Amino acid sequence: MTTSENQLVHCVYCGKGIKKSGEGIIQISNSRWCHKKCYDKFHAHRIRNLSEEEKRETDMNTLRQYIHEAFKGMNPNWPVIGREIKQFQQMGFSLSGIHKTLIYLFEVKQIDRFRLGGHINVVARYYQEAKSYYQKIYVNNKNALDNYKQESEQIKILEPQPIRNIKMLDIDSFEKGDN
Ligand SMILES: [Zn+2]
Repeated sequence: MTTSENQLVHCVYCGKGIKKSGEGIIQISNSRWCHKKCYDKFHAHRIRNLSEEEKRETDMNTLRQYIHEAFKGMNPNWPVIGREIKQFQQMGFSLSGIHKTLIYLFEVKQIDRFRLGGHINVVARYYQEAKSYYQKIYVNNKNALDNYKQESEQIKILEPQPIRNIKMLDIDSFEKGDN
C-alpha cells in the first residue's frame, strides 16, 4: 500500500474524512472518493424506482445530512436554511442540484464555510457555475467512455465494466423534475 492510497480525502457526499483505500470507499473520478453507502443513498432514486414523493424526501434528507456534516462545529441556522431551500426550489433549483452546488463550493472551490454565517444563501450565486462544472466533467467522462467503448470494440472486449462508475457525475439531476 502506498502513502497516496492512505491519503485522507473527503467523501464527496457526506464530507467526512476517509482513506482512499479504506473499506467501503469507492473512487468516482480522478480526484474524488466517497463511501459506497453514501453513493447508494445519493443515487437511491436511480437504483430503486422511487415515487416523486419518496424521491423528494430522500433528496431532502441527503441534502440536510450533507449540510449538517459540512457545518460541523458551527451553528447551522435551520429555520433560515429551510426558507432558503424553499426559495431555491421556487427559483427552479432541484434538491440534488443544491446539494451538488454545496459539494462544488466546499470540495472543489474550497470556500471558507465559516464565513457563510450558518446558512446556504451562497448557493443562489453559484448554482449555474456548479452546473457548468458538472456538465463539463460529464462531457469529458462521456468522451472517455465513448473512446473506451470504441477501443473495446476494436479489440473485441465485450464488457466495458471498469469505467462504469465514471458516469455518475451525470447532470440530469440538476434539471427540475428530472430523475
Ligand atoms: Zn460519505
